[in-house]
Amino acid sequence: STELNRHSPPQTSRLTPQLWQLLTTASQAAEKRGWHLYLVGGAVRDLLLAEATAGTLMITDIDLVVDGFHKSADVGAGVELAKALQEMYPAARLEIHGAFQTAALLWHKDPDLDSLWVDIATARTEFYPYPAANPEVEASSIRQDLYRRDFTINALALRLTPPRAGELLDFFGGLLDLKAKQIRVLHANSFIEDPTRIYRGVRFAVRLGFAIEPRTEEYIRYAINSGVYDRTAQTNTKTPALQTRLKTELKHILEAPYWRSALQLLDDLGALQCIHPTLKLDSELTRQLRLLERCLRRFDPQQNLIHWQMRLEAIIAHLAPTHRGKVAKNLQLQEDSIKHLQNLATAKTEIIGSLLKYQHHSQVVKLLRNYDLEILILIALQSQQKIRRQIWNYLTVLTNIQPILNGNDLKKLGYKPSPQYKQMLDDLLAGTLDGDITNQREAEEFLAKQYPK
Ligand code: ATP
Repeated sequence: STELNRHSPPQTSRLTPQLWQLLTTASQAAEKRGWHLYLVGGAVRDLLLAEATAGTLMITDIDLVVDGFHKSADVGAGVELAKALQEMYPAARLEIHGAFQTAALLWHKDPDLDSLWVDIATARTEFYPYPAANPEVEASSIRQDLYRRDFTINALALRLTPPRAGELLDFFGGLLDLKAKQIRVLHANSFIEDPTRIYRGVRFAVRLGFAIEPRTEEYIRYAINSGVYDRTAQTNTKTPALQTRLKTELKHILEAPYWRSALQLLDDLGALQCIHPTLKLDSELTRQLRLLERCLRRFDPQQNLIHWQMRLEAIIAHLAPTHRGKVAKNLQLQEDSIKHLQNLATAKTEIIGSLLKYQHHSQVVKLLRNYDLEILILIALQSQQKIRRQIWNYLTVLTNIQPILNGNDLKKLGYKPSPQYKQMLDDLLAGTLDGDITNQREAEEFLAKQYPK
């Protein structure tokens, strides 16, 4: 529908005083220039959703849209407004993206202020003057901006400038969808235009406990069946930006507490095909992901590994070896993730072959210490229990065992410091690991025999 639904304002009093102050300042700066300013996107959605609950709303991402014409054609109104605000808030960092469309103001977290990210975009794409007081021009320009967005619940705007400041602009029935708890897309072509919206839709559905509206689901399936994969995951693609966005969405999903349900829903919709057409969340992958969580809790309580990335690596590792490196590169994963996935098959063959033959702990340690923790975890996930136990044992027990003597002790025993120390300590470690050396006396006897002075 093109008609505009006007509603009573949501409770902006739910914002923190600092944020409210910033919005007021921004709207005054816009008004002074004869522009309109809107709060749009997630903040409006979250404000409306929070109406039923108590307390202050923690909002750290703000999207503003300025509808205005700047007299110098090489600066957008959004950029101009951001610059004006930055002068009033010197603590904020200003970033300008693209020629003249968007700017961002960033406050880093400090003791007094929560971190805040304010994006300021310009609604008007045509840069010609217009009668500022013409409400039809205004409505069509903010409407166009909102129409480019993903879902009705994200396409609501709250007018910040007078007249009618505080008015909610709802062109697409977003408020009804919020009430009905559904994710509805704005037009049939939306997912073809930008397949990452499929992932965004799933993320919002699972996070908010909403359903994907049936027609929207049809559009998703249609987009997938019409070969979305060719654009999202094919090599030599001309759409790196699309893949960066897909990776960003995967990150958002895989680092959220609800990642399992989201992955399940993506699979139900056939949307894992955006990563690779053969990717399915089958019972084997489900089992491996469950095991991975146990493993991360146990081996990485300090969160040294990037857990969302490990989940993604495990998912990609589930593909046939020939696809893994390509998919990782397409998604522009970090260099070492790509390396893990490219080397996984070879490393797995070597490790499994050796572990099945080895009799001694020292052999296990000598082999496995050449590999990153990440790749050992990936191999363990895919291996039979016997191998998995050996890898677990290496990670939990064997890596913590130290030789009974150290370099200082060797010196005290009268050995001249030399590159040979390394070999001696290594041999002592092997003896300790294999239970041949259990105390200091045995260690010294061992040295006397192996390394006569
Ligand atoms: P969150 O609470 O997760 O930050 P958000 O709605 O603020 O949710 P952002 O990713 O910050 O999400 O995007 C801000 C707004 O930009 C969205 O509300 C939506 O209107 C629009 N948007 C973002 N990505 C897309 C996209 N791929 N297609 C269309 N609109 C988008």
